[in-house]
Amino acid sequence: MSAVLETAAATPAQDAVPMTDGFHLVIDALKHNDIDTIFGLVGIPITDLARLAQAQGMRFIGFRHEQNAGNAAAIAGYMTKQPGICLTVSAPGFLNGLAALANATVNCFPMILISGSSEREIVDLQQGDYEEMDQLNAAKPYAKAAYRINKAEDIGIGIARAIRAAVSGRPGGVYLDLPAQLLGQTLDAAHGKQSLVKVVDPVPRQLPAPDAVQRALDLLKGAKRPLILLGKGAAYAQADADIRAFVETTGIPYLPMSMAKGLLPDTHAQSASAARSFVLAEADVVVLIGARLNWLLAHGKGKTWGGPKQFIQIDISPTEIDSNVAIAAPVIGDIGSCVAALLAGIDGGFKQPGAEWTGAIAERKQKNLAKMAETLARNPAPMNFHSALRAIRDVLKTHPDINLVNEGANTLDYARSIIDQYQPRKRFDSGTWGIMGIGMGYAIGAAVTSGLPVVAIEGDSAFGFSGMELETICRYELPVTTIIFNNNGVYRGTDVNPTGGKDVAPTVFVKGARYDKMIEAFGGIGYHATTPAELAKALTEAIASGKPALINAVIDEAAGTESGRLTNLNPQSKATKK
Ligand code: ADP
Repeated sequence: MSAVLETAAATPAQDAVPMTDGFHLVIDALKHNDIDTIFGLVGIPITDLARLAQAQGMRFIGFRHEQNAGNAAAIAGYMTKQPGICLTVSAPGFLNGLAALANATVNCFPMILISGSSEREIVDLQQGDYEEMDQLNAAKPYAKAAYRINKAEDIGIGIARAIRAAVSGRPGGVYLDLPAQLLGQTLDAAHGKQSLVKVVDPVPRQLPAPDAVQRALDLLKGAKRPLILLGKGAAYAQADADIRAFVETTGIPYLPMSMAKGLLPDTHAQSASAARSFVLAEADVVVLIGARLNWLLAHGKGKTWGGPKQFIQIDISPTEIDSNVAIAAPVIGDIGSCVAALLAGIDGGFKQPGAEWTGAIAERKQKNLAKMAETLARNPAPMNFHSALRAIRDVLKTHPDINLVNEGANTLDYARSIIDQYQPRKRFDSGTWGIMGIGMGYAIGAAVTSGLPVVAIEGDSAFGFSGMELETICRYELPVTTIIFNNNGVYRGTDVNPTGGKDVAPTVFVKGARYDKMIEAFGGIGYHATTPAELAKALTEAIASGKPALINAVIDEAAGTESGRLTNLNPQSKATKK
């Protein structure tokens, strides 16, 4: 079908003038910028936009809740460096999508939330329109940028602006407001075509200043116990070969943040993951590559970080520098260019770290790995987190290209340290906010974007936030295997109501729930696993089938600690402590 509106009302004067409209121009503008997929949920006023997108050859993936569609768009953005697109209806649909947009912005993932909105003149006078809301202003605090397009001839420039804002510099979420009446506006087709804008060089290289590179190299050369910390910014940058070369040429031990796992295979000899506490405390110079010194890194200070240390920080965002502690050598630019510049400056005068440092790390690693192997080898009945994850780890080892989604409290903490990643940008998890609810959205986004299988390892509580998307997974026949770590509750299922009343404790779910039956309702394959052997068999079969599957992995309901490793973040009640 051509982008020209075939049903344009013809007046005698316009007879020969082909017309287009807002609907067509939005789709044309996205396609013009090589965007081929929209994640969303239809309704007034954007249903026809979704229909048209499909008719024009784009992929429209329809969800059951906008937050999940938004999460799918965000992870697609992270995987491709192209903004993921989420399309929603006005007011409540927009607000549902906004949670995902905020999460994308916080995680530095490029996405564009496009929402239809009600009539401006009624909204602005607060006269009570259908789904009335000032969406543009509501979005602003949670987005990197927010725009509204009011005229059809501005659609091309508006979409170009949204794309550039999402992917250039530090990536983030962009809100684009499309009032219903814009979509219906008509324009002559030639004028419409001319108004489209192809974004040139949307992710421009940003070269670091040579003196900043030299300062960093000088600091690194003087280090006795250097450490490289790779964050998800490093994974996002797609500078995999140079990052690996930098790590290997310098011989410096490295730690990957959770979504940077696999940038180098977790089995790499220089990985210090198994000696994490030791290296963070003992290092004297730390090179941060695309990782912020936020709560996930104890803000760069305190007990975790031990003695005094100096930081080299590579980041595209200058205001990230000195956010928590003083940074001795900031290197501002895109990670690819910065790492290439550092690599070029590593000359014969550079000495790899001595055996005193690497040997101490190796010793610590060996000790910790032996301890972990012992824990993993146990076979308690019922299963616990460790024995279940051992089974999953052994299966996933044979599928290095699998996409892994992971959320939960204990399920996240344990899976992150037990399951190795072998390839970059294959692990998608709770991220910067440490949130629950990304599971099925990320799983669908990853499956659609990569065309490869996905395994989602989910706490039973975390799964609940997006569980209805099992229907979406089945509808699009996506190769997603969801594993539910079922311990009957949030954190665990053993709490009791102290009053003896009928209501169960706040953390408790239905005991013995059969999540596997949920996917069967939509035509997927359900498995019920109570032992590591059953779990391994189910997972092997599920991946091989390439079909939507769900494994209800029953683990000990007493397994799990409150809030996983974040117990310290729960405020203590002074009254009950006494
Ligand atoms: P993690 O949670 O893995 O520690 P963060 O999300 O805290 O990682 O940090 C990612 C950092 O990477 C952000 O500060 C962001 O500005 C930066 N970043 C993202 N993409 C790039 C890029 N292409 N070049 C340079 N820095 C980047």
